[in-house]
Amino acid sequence: MLAVDSESKYDVVVIGGGPAGVCAAIASARGGADTVLIEQHGFLGGMATLAMFQPWRGFHSLGKQIVQGIGNEIVQELESRGGSLGHLVDPTGVSFTVTPFDAEMLKDVLQAKLEREHVRVLFDSQFAKAETKGKIINSVLIRRKEGIVALSANVYIDATGNGRVAVNAGAKHIKHESNASYPFCMKKVNERALIDFAQNNPHEFSGTTSAIRNGFLSLKGFSSLTKKWLEESPMLARGDSLQIDGTMRNGEVIVSMISLPNVDATDEGSLTRAEMRCRQLAPKAALFLANNCPGFVDSRIHATPQQIGFHATIQVCGTMMISDSDVMSGKTFDDSIATCAMPGRPGSTFQVPRRALFTPDVENLLVTGRAIFPPTALFATNSQAASMQLGEAAGRIASEIKTTLQNKN
Ligand SMILES: Cc1cc2nc3c(=O)[nH]c(=O)nc-3n(C[C@H](O)[C@H](O)[C@H](O)COP(=O)(O)OP(=O)(O)OC[C@H]3O[C@@H](n4cnc5c(N)ncnc54)[C@H](O)[C@@H]3O)c2cc1C
Repeated sequence: MLAVDSESKYDVVVIGGGPAGVCAAIASARGGADTVLIEQHGFLGGMATLAMFQPWRGFHSLGKQIVQGIGNEIVQELESRGGSLGHLVDPTGVSFTVTPFDAEMLKDVLQAKLEREHVRVLFDSQFAKAETKGKIINSVLIRRKEGIVALSANVYIDATGNGRVAVNAGAKHIKHESNASYPFCMKKVNERALIDFAQNNPHEFSGTTSAIRNGFLSLKGFSSLTKKWLEESPMLARGDSLQIDGTMRNGEVIVSMISLPNVDATDEGSLTRAEMRCRQLAPKAALFLANNCPGFVDSRIHATPQQIGFHATIQVCGTMMISDSDVMSGKTFDDSIATCAMPGRPGSTFQVPRRALFTPDVENLLVTGRAIFPPTALFATNSQAASMQLGEAAGRIASEIKTTLQNKN
């Protein structure tokens, strides 16, 4: 493990170890930049490992793989260790492919990859404040067990998912109301009974009714069950379906049926109330499934997420801001740095311009991952594959800036 100290000035500091941050740090290090990655938890993966958002979606648009690069390397490394089934046609038809992965193995694969790429990783380190002079960040203050420490770099990458660094450094942004999602993991589920139910009740499911493809179970629908569940739980965000996805383990599934409306992810009080409410609702939801859903009679909760997941919280105003209509209309840009698929609309793609990663308010900062998307786009994209691609682009650009600065001096 490479050391990090507050006396040194680094080329690039990446804040956030989710799909965007990990790929940004690797791309930056590959570009020759001495790179530090800061993550507030003790492991990597972001929403994949914190909030049980799986499988990955968005690697393909129709038959074409549009996310390659570091994201695909991660999939291949997992596959070679038995931690992913690779890219499979999505049984629900929501996206073109799904890429199931083992979230526990992902933590290890990402960490090993960062070490191999000579990225300096700091866990249990929470970004607290940006020390700025005019439009330049001089250093970032990091809250660690031993207290607050300062880290300084030429370029910073905000991969916190919620624009935490950009907002603190003075970047204009838009705050959105958001639904909080709380998928949870159930064990001892009879998957065969679920598949039989789906095949015998196609009217209960949207899109394709094929519940399983290449050994991976994914079901979106259960319309009667959803109606009953929402009648019994009036405080939940309205939705027309439950989703059940297999994991890499037999008899284990991730259930998405708890979503609270209008939670302010930037307010600790609102967040705490939502966390507590979700934790109370999970056993109720598990009991509901045991009593009402085929295959769940002997099941029990295996795990709940470490953190609530949000649809949209903060959109940082980039030099060029991506709008809902840019995404929905599939707009193309001359300075595109990524083409992303839209789960929910298989076959549709949209582009992200380089300008969207920069903000006019902070000169030595790039923002990447979900914090650059508008809420409808986030809902439509819903994809960690897109974030991996955006992260890789940000890391590459940061290392190019470092080279330009080096050549100037
Ligand atoms: C309800 C819902 C369901 C979804 N389901 C799927 C799905 O099934 N498949 C899929 O592919 N995508 C899914 N997504 C989309 C996906 O979760 C996001 O696109 C993706 O996680 C964005 O990656 P990111 O790296 O930008 O942010 P994140 O994954 O949020 O990672 C941000 C990282 O930054 C860290 N961080 C935050 N603040 C700080 C701080 N102050 N200091 C240090 N570290 C910090 C966090 O701990 C985290 O590790 C879903 C999204 C939602 C809302």
